[in-house]
Amino acid sequence: MTRPWAQSRPPAEAAAAARCTVDGCGSEATGPAPSAGMVPVTGAGDGAGAHWWCAGRCAVLARTRAELRAVPMRSGGGR
Ligand SMILES: [Zn+2]
Repeated sequence: MTRPWAQSRPPAEAAAAARCTVDGCGSEATGPAPSAGMVPVTGAGDGAGAHWWCAGRCAVLARTRAELRAVPMRSGGGR
């Protein structure tokens, strides 16, 4: 049986492939923005740090991921 999806990337990696390659995008927001037009997005969970993302698509994706991680079944979320 041919399963094209099984021969390519697993879902998680496919999602990562959509990741932006802009320098500084996704870096920890511990200082000034690495690039103009980037916005800090706070992660989900207690003590989650903020990261810089390109305003727009990256920021939206980051917020979406944070919301997904906010569900109870998150892993490794020590309190
Ligand atoms: Zn980006």
